[in-house]
Amino acid sequence: MKIKPRKRLFIGLLLGLEVFFALGLYILWYIPSRGYENFGRNLSVFWGWIFGIILIVFTLGVVFLVAIILRGREVRGARWLRGILVRYLLPVITGVGKLFGIPKDDIRRSFIEINNELVRSSSFKAPPKRILILMPHCIQRDVCPYRITVAVNNCRQCGKCDFNELTRIADRLGIEMTVATGGTLARRVVVQTNPELIVGVACERDLASGIVDTYPIPVIGILIDRPEGPCVNTRVNVQKVNDALETFLSEHSFSGEKEAAQASLS
Ligand code: SF4
Repeated sequence: MKIKPRKRLFIGLLLGLEVFFALGLYILWYIPSRGYENFGRNLSVFWGWIFGIILIVFTLGVVFLVAIILRGREVRGARWLRGILVRYLLPVITGVGKLFGIPKDDIRRSFIEINNELVRSSSFKAPPKRILILMPHCIQRDVCPYRITVAVNNCRQCGKCDFNELTRIADRLGIEMTVATGGTLARRVVVQTNPELIVGVACERDLASGIVDTYPIPVIGILIDRPEGPCVNTRVNVQKVNDALETFLSEHSFSGEKEAAQASLS
């Protein structure tokens, strides 16, 4: 089985976490066990069993998670494990990565990749009205005078930035697109619109935290390109956004529009 490099990083750190955890438990057991001898051997054996059981449960969780990541789909009955992966493991894995000098953004990219694969393979579908596209403001050309943060329809589709194509796709598919100026606003939009599915475009930090904050709503995250540096005149692969939307659309809805969107991109 070929494992994508981005996935490999997260799996490697997950296994590193397992080693740290086992070592920590061993030390927790070993040092006080010297003192346990004063109370008899049984106390040392008792704590040995307790820590052993904790380690077995933790190891089974890690094995399950690695299996889910490698298969690229959820193991039946293990949806809660994906919740643990999304909600709790990212900060811990980031901490382990820091010990090895791995940049945070590399870990976030790996996490986003794994999340996207799990979401794609879970076959989530929704009608267009229940899907939300969340865009960062920095994609808009910095000299553009139109206020698309108020209403994305204010875009005149002049072709100078990627909103030209993105607004066309959203219109054609009948999917709501919102331009957020930051993570707080994006979270507010999610609360207000209550979507079933989200396609989010942002940088590594905003995407990773957005995926965590909006769990259990399925999110496909697409990273921006920064040819002129961070937060100004950024770009996004429009084809990837289109593909993500197609992944989410119910089969019966908008089949004609999906083809039209594909045609407009080719
Ligand atoms: S495509 Fe729209 S948002 Fe982009 S520069 Fe032109 S008018 Fe502004």
